Amino acid sequence: MKKKVSLPVQIVIALIAGILVGLACYFTGAVSLASGYLKPFGDIFVNLLKFIVVPVVLLSMIDGILSMGDMRKVGSVGWKTVAYFLCTTAIACVIGLVLANIFDNAGLFPTLVLEEGAVWEKATSANFMDTLVAIFPSNMWDAFVKANMLQVIVIALLLGGSIMAAGENGRMCREFVSSAYAVIEKMMGFIISLSPIGVFTMMAWVVATQGAGILGSLALVLLCAYIGYAAHAILVYSMSARIFAGMSPVRFFKGAFAAMIFGFTSASSAATLPVSRECADELGADGEISSFVLPLGSTINMDGTAIYQCVATIFLASCAGVHLSLGQMVTIVVTATLASIGTAGVSGAGTIMLAMVLTAMGIDVNLIMIIYGVDRLFDMGRTCLNITGDISCAVCVSKWESGKSGGSRR
Ligand code: ASP
Repeated sequence: MKKKVSLPVQIVIALIAGILVGLACYFTGAVSLASGYLKPFGDIFVNLLKFIVVPVVLLSMIDGILSMGDMRKVGSVGWKTVAYFLCTTAIACVIGLVLANIFDNAGLFPTLVLEEGAVWEKATSANFMDTLVAIFPSNMWDAFVKANMLQVIVIALLLGGSIMAAGENGRMCREFVSSAYAVIEKMMGFIISLSPIGVFTMMAWVVATQGAGILGSLALVLLCAYIGYAAHAILVYSMSARIFAGMSPVRFFKGAFAAMIFGFTSASSAATLPVSRECADELGADGEISSFVLPLGSTINMDGTAIYQCVATIFLASCAGVHLSLGQMVTIVVTATLASIGTAGVSGAGTIMLAMVLTAMGIDVNLIMIIYGVDRLFDMGRTCLNITGDISCAVCVSKWESGKSGGSRR
């Protein structure tokens, strides 16, 4: 009888085992065991995350632009959808940053005393204008080699736009991008399937080196993210249901509830798509509009992921003893908005894009090890919010389109 244990269950087991082993190492003074024999496996996992981030960002962005190119065909529905997605994601980033700064300034985020011998690069500070100039690459390969993520995004925007502009002559490139992205998605799936190993080893190492106190800090950063998720749902989705769709927030959340629960448990926007579709129908969204908005939303609209990336960035910067300037916060809003667009709708994908935000901010990506152990807990909440955002968009755009005088829908 060989029943396969599902990935979420494997992750929960790895999380508990990691905490227990970490505590055992901490209390028996066997910290070097965790550092010497467990952390290297965590390092391998982080290396794989770093390894995949450039191709994922490049290909997913180009693919996204090309699919937006098709949007011209769907006319006003397309532009309204993208405008809604971008505005709500930018608001999500601001909510995430404000909350994380409140927690940080209240001293709720720790500055870690890092074990001897561990190399933690301090984040380099850069002002906004320097960042602006630096995002334009003078050498494409240099951007890839150095994993300069802002430059990679600019390259993706230029390539995507140019492939689209080349029309029929650019067909081969278009097909290459979609085929290469399919391959990279498979690779990403494989790396994510290794996450129980990452969760176990990183959790054990973090608890062994930082003591039980780190569990309190992780609970606080989780709390911060969940307050952000709830605030965004209440402020943005309730208000847009009320103002744009003329629907009571209670009615909206009741209608979206099944998809929210499914998203929370599956941690995958893509897997939740059929349920989101039913909920949108139930809420009276136009079927044609839903079938455009929801699949696009499950690929590019990730408000929960944006909140998580902002909160996690401030938390990890604080762990490294760095407090970011206002200019850097603006850069986080831009980067996290783009990163959330580039995040695939599968569980764990947001962390790969967090690596991109950290790299762009000059923060050591290895710091991800501190929070990776509890990533699934972040992921469940952020996915729940992500799909709620998609449904809210479908409902609002349907209302806007139905209000158009005698105009055709597409
Ligand atoms: N799991 C999320 C989703 O599917 C993406 C993420 O990891 O942030 O929406």
